[in-house]
Parts: sequence; C-alpha cells; structure tokens
Amino acid sequence: QRASGEEIVKDYTLEPEHELRFEVDFGTTVKLKLISGTAEIFGTEIGIAPEYEFTGRKVAVFTWRGTCSVEYVATETPMVSYLNMHLALEQLREQAKITNKQGPRVLIVGPEDVGKTSLSKILLSYALRQSHNPIFIDLDPNEGTITMPGTLSATSITHIIDVEEGFGSSATTAPSMGSTTLPLVYYYGYADSGENLKLFKMLTSQLAKVVKARIDEDANARVSGLVIDTNGLTDNTGYEIIQHCVELFYVNIIIVLGHERLYSDMDRLYNDNNDVTVLKLLKSGGVVDRDNSFRRQLQMRKIREYFYGTPKCELSPYSTIINFHDFSIYRVGVGSLAPSSALPIGIDRKVSETQLVKVEPDDSLSHSIVAISASETSDEVQLLEANILGFIYVTEVDTAKHKMTVLSPCPGRLPNQFLLVGSFKWMES
Ligand code: ATP
Repeated sequence: QRASGEEIVKDYTLEPEHELRFEVDFGTTVKLKLISGTAEIFGTEIGIAPEYEFTGRKVAVFTWRGTCSVEYVATETPMVSYLNMHLALEQLREQAKITNKQGPRVLIVGPEDVGKTSLSKILLSYALRQSHNPIFIDLDPNEGTITMPGTLSATSITHIIDVEEGFGSSATTAPSMGSTTLPLVYYYGYADSGENLKLFKMLTSQLAKVVKARIDEDANARVSGLVIDTNGLTDNTGYEIIQHCVELFYVNIIIVLGHERLYSDMDRLYNDNNDVTVLKLLKSGGVVDRDNSFRRQLQMRKIREYFYGTPKCELSPYSTIINFHDFSIYRVGVGSLAPSSALPIGIDRKVSETQLVKVEPDDSLSHSIVAISASETSDEVQLLEANILGFIYVTEVDTAKHKMTVLSPCPGRLPNQFLLVGSFKWMES
C-alpha cells in the first residue's frame, strides 16, 4: 500500500534457491502472503495462512525448495554458503556434546551494511530449528536489535525470531537460569562502538563475565555456542575491538563478511593461533546501504516501540511525575557537560572516558532516553558495571518545582533511583 492509500497487488513465483527482495519505506506498507510452497525470511520460516506486514524494512524472502508464489527475484544469493556455515557449526555443536566442551563461538565482522545482523539471524534461526539455543551477543549499539539503541546485550535464543518484529519478541520470553537472567542489557549510550572505546571495553568485559557464568551452568547454552554481531569495524579502533572480543568470548570462528582487506588482515593476525579460524563469506547482493536518515528513523522506531509496542503487540506507557530527590542521574565519560559546580573539586570539565558525572536535571535533559541502572549503590564502578532494568523517556523537566515528567512502561515508582543518560534523544510524535 502506497502512502497515498493506493493498493497494488503483485504475484511472484520463486524457483528453488531464489530470493524475492523488497524495500519498504517508512510511511508505506507491504503485505506479504505465501500462497504455496515453503519460504523463509532471514532464517525464519513463513506460514501459508498469515499475512505479514512490513514498514520501513528491507526484506528478502528466500526459498530452498520452491516453487512458491510470492518485485524483483534474485537468482544469485549466498544462501548456500550461509547454510554450509550453519552445517559446519552444527558439527561443532555435535562434537561439543560428545566432549562436553563449548560449542562454536562465532564473531561476525565487516563494514557497515553487509548483512551481519541478517547473517546472525539466519545462523541463530537455523540453530534453533535444530533444537539448539545459542546465545546472541549484540555488540552493535547503533540498532538496538534487542531493546534500545545504545545498548549492548546478550539473549538466549529460545523462540523463533519474528519475521515482522525481529528479535524483540523472542528476547522478552527467554527463561532465567541460576544467577543469570537473559536478556542481559548494558547501557553504553553511544551509537558507535568506537566512540567511547574504554567504556565499550568495560561493558563488554562485564557482559562476557555474565555470559560465561550462564554457559557454566547451562549445558544447552554451552553446546549451542555464541553468535556475536558487531557494527562496522574496519579501522584501527575496529581491529582493537575485534581482538578484545576474541579474547573475551573465547571466539574460535571469525566470519568476515564482504571485505577482502579485513579478511586478509584477520587471517594474518590469527594465522599462528590454532584456536581461531578466520573465514570469509560473500555479502548478499540484496543487502542495501541504509543512509543516515534511514538509520535515524530505525533508531526512532526502536525507541517508540520500547514504549508503545508494535502493531502486533501494542503497549500503553505511563506518564509519571518524579521528584528530583527520588533519583540520581549520571552521564558517563567524554562530552559530559555537567555544570562545574556538580563536579568534584579538582576535576576539570573534560572528564575521562569512564568517569561518571552527576547531572543536575534541567531543560537540556528533556527528550532524553534514560536507562535505569540495576546498581544498588552510587559507587562509580558498580554503577558503570551494572546492567539495565529498563528505560524511561524524559518528557519535561520543571526546575522550579524540582519535578520531572517521564514516560515509563510501568506505572508507579521507578524500580531504582540510579539513572544513566547517554546521547540518545527522541521526540514523541
Ligand atoms: P550494520 O552495519 O548496521 O550492522 P549489517 O551489516 O548488520 O548492518 P544488515 O542489518 O544485516 O547489515 O542488513 C542491512 C539491510 O539490508 C537490512 O535492512 C536488511 O534487512 C537488508 N537485507 C539484508 N539481506 C538482504 C537480502 N538478501 N535482500 C534484501 N535485503 C536484505
């Protein structure tokens, strides 16, 4: 359906191993119905009866067996190589079962827009279809694939990844295990992993510790392994991040997507390391470059969905007024522009990357996304390393009355008084 309301219906027939690709702008809707045969979207099978709806998405409908009726049909896709990769990972999982060791720890790297997240989804969905529950580690803060942009997270894949809504719906229902509950979310607060490298490393180290604890107590997670998605890491900072992740998560397979130089650099770097295999896979011709405005719209949609839900599962957030003395709000690191009076004596304005600066609420906080920390104390290290309980949105700050109006998914008091603010702002429309 076009924004003008005009409706156009088209039929497509897919041959085996062919793919139907379409791009849907924001403000336009595409409805998809499979009439016969079998097909999948990024690894998740679609059914014959339901009608799937997409807005602001770039989608590929793929069929292994065809012939199924479904803009442009692509005859060349890298899906066979992705399937082979999955089969190799399955073998490693089977071996891990026998030896009682860890299954494959896969790190997917490459430049922006080469299909890293899509490949993650495909590998995770295929593993799930074979009764494995790998842990998905999302280290791409740009998209907020699991919850909000600006987050780093770990999720146990126990439910199919929804073709319309992505990971969101599979993440919320993951069971807890012993001391570790997934999804586990940390607030990094920036869109680019290299923007505050020290903080990024600190949070990923913390994430890795919890994931390790989970793997130690959950045999299925141990055998199923990890799939780690990253954002574009092709410069020196990116290389540093890759090496850091390899050490932290005991990565044994690095998949380089669509970047020859990165592949040869990684291959050279890990040439002497028998524990790490570097593989390259082709970028799908269907992956589309997303410009900054499309990315920004994706982020805004993700934020909106956090509070208002999706068309399939709508939510009603609560507008709550909170007193300044009921919370303490902090900003982490570089670029923090707290008033000098709020800084400890002797600390200058240009704070270190992982220093916490207490923020005095004023108008500049309006429209910010604020994370609620799980920390029990205001101790700097604890606050930095604590995971996130949820998010609120600052609608308005009344400095005269010392009150702030916030939008929250739950009614009543905040679950904790310690709040973290990052660089994300949103205009509720
Ligand atoms: P980033 O650099 O943001 O991490 P990425 O490398 O993870 O990006 P994806 O998010 O997987 O890339 O893909 C980019 C876009 O291309 C997405 O909108 C995705 O839905 C779309 N896409 C991926 N594969 C295909 C395909 N085969 N056909 C059509 N669209 C595709």
